[in-house]
Amino acid sequence: MTKKVNNAFTLVELLVVISIIGLLTGILMPVLSVAREQGRCVVCKSNLKNIGFALRVYLDDYEGKMPSADPYPGSYGQKSQHWFMNSVLLKNMGLEVLKDEDGELIGPGKERSVLTCPTHRHPDMTRDSPPDYPAQEREYSLSYMANGTLGVSGKALVAMEYRHESEYRRPSEAMMFCDGNGTMQTPGTVLYDGCPKSNFEFRHRGKVNAIFLDQHIESLKEEDIPFCTRFDERRFGTFWYAKKK
Ligand SMILES: [Zn+2]
Repeated sequence: MTKKVNNAFTLVELLVVISIIGLLTGILMPVLSVAREQGRCVVCKSNLKNIGFALRVYLDDYEGKMPSADPYPGSYGQKSQHWFMNSVLLKNMGLEVLKDEDGELIGPGKERSVLTCPTHRHPDMTRDSPPDYPAQEREYSLSYMANGTLGVSGKALVAMEYRHESEYRRPSEAMMFCDGNGTMQTPGTVLYDGCPKSNFEFRHRGKVNAIFLDQHIESLKEEDIPFCTRFDERRFGTFWYAKKK
């Protein structure tokens, strides 16, 4: 009499396999999500590198004069725009600033990957709503903020004079652009020296990526940033401002 061989899984075997798969998934998922975020962080740093390069080319073209972070009457005889509306700076990033029917600048077009951090969860939404760049009319927002002191001279204390890069005594400590999200207090995505920490977005596992004037990039934790509430006289000056010589 031949013995019938049963090749089917028993219920116990099936449960064991399912629990092993569940265990492996539990172990692998966090690892995969960390790996995915690391990939996004690399893209973000590459974006900042491009923005920093665009700034470098701009400075070379304008004899070291900084672009303005936000609108104020400039020394070139016209009202300057937010940095992300500066057509020369954006052209250096390969971007074009769009205009409405009246010829008014309305911001960069859809091709804006260099201005969008891949970890920014809602790049079509920001907390800001500047009058000249209303959230409801734009197709996306910006993921990066400029140091709000760009464009304001530290020498003459006169708003008609652009800050010169030579005013920064420590280019390796002067933050230019970083991961962020605008607020009502800081129109657009520019960043002011006394801004609250909510103006930053610590979106890379608790850190922000930032590019400095010497073109190097750092990932900064909250405690690495000299906010006005965590006053560190030496670092506060070099991080935010150009210092008088
Ligand atoms: Zn980022």
